[in-house]
Amino acid sequence: TTAELLLELVSVEYHETIMARSGTSAEVARRQVMEVAPNGYLAVVEGAIPVGDDGVYCTVGGRAFSDVVREVCGGSAATIAVGSCAFDGGAPAAGGGLTGSVGVEQVVPDVSLVNLPGCPVNVENLAATIVHYLTFKTLPATDARHRPLFAYGGLLHNQCERRAHFEFGEFVQAWGDEGSQKGWCLYKMGCKGPETFANCPTARYAGGISWPVKAGHGCIGCTMAGFWDQMSPVYGRLPSPLPFAPQVSADQLGIALVGGVAALTVAHGTASAVRLHRRGVEERRAARLAEVGIDEGDTGAAEATEALEAIEAADEGDVDAGGAGASDEDAAEAATSDEASGPPTAATPPAPVTEIVDGAADAEGGAR
Ligand code: SF4
Repeated sequence: TTAELLLELVSVEYHETIMARSGTSAEVARRQVMEVAPNGYLAVVEGAIPVGDDGVYCTVGGRAFSDVVREVCGGSAATIAVGSCAFDGGAPAAGGGLTGSVGVEQVVPDVSLVNLPGCPVNVENLAATIVHYLTFKTLPATDARHRPLFAYGGLLHNQCERRAHFEFGEFVQAWGDEGSQKGWCLYKMGCKGPETFANCPTARYAGGISWPVKAGHGCIGCTMAGFWDQMSPVYGRLPSPLPFAPQVSADQLGIALVGGVAALTVAHGTASAVRLHRRGVEERRAARLAEVGIDEGDTGAAEATEALEAIEAADEGDVDAGGAGASDEDAAEAATSDEASGPPTAATPPAPVTEIVDGAADAEGGAR
């Protein structure tokens, strides 16, 4: 369990909120770890890193948090960025932000890194990453954005327990309606599961008890890059990055149902929807290509489409074969076989001393 990992397997040498030492003594403890185990500890970073105005919006021990991250992560065996803020700036970077907040990757691009985006991060994925490192002396295979394939290699939609309702066209149409009470698909309530890569349906939260869709709320796509901007509005549908993606048929189903009672409205609405859909498809396609590390300018449009289709087809095939485990493995194979997506990253061994640096996850400013 996560508790056993933290209390029995690793030594947490520094964490601002749970360590006994405080103030200057805490900073001494941090420096001691770096001196005793150079390049031999794991640095776990939570929170966005403000770099605007020389990093004044978040300081630790009187120093800019960005400087502390460079120092600690630069001397680590490997770094794990937990949560969407540490991934790419998260909420503080939404809409451009005010503090110049970025993720760990932007501050220390050359370290051995695993990103665990999510809002909040799933602690099971953090525990699994650390256990993988302790067991195999290397970080797990990742995609081009350093997200481990065991957790982010499969499409959430394909692992969802409400998927059967999607296939049968059984959708929640309004909060509290019959479909909502019966646990039908939340696609029409803005669920971003068809556009999101994460293992939330299988890992779940709170010790495996539940996750948002099981609790009745659609996925908000929080594991995807720039999700606050890219996945908005939370309760509105987004067009698919792929023309053949299943949600297109669900939209068409909705239009067809309306058409029976309001033909003129449908004619106007359909034309608008097609224009918006086409524009949206292009934007989502570009975002998805960037996600998997494919440069359409290098590969050509046809090859890029084939690569995306291969990834989606692998996900579909995994569901047919049954089991999220198979899904992750095949998606990992598909992703790692694609040179454009970049090679898996790995770190060299050393001793399992863990250092946790807590950043500005929940506030843009404020000295610590
Ligand atoms: S659209 Fe959302 S609720 Fe429906 S099956 Fe996909 S992930 Fe599940």
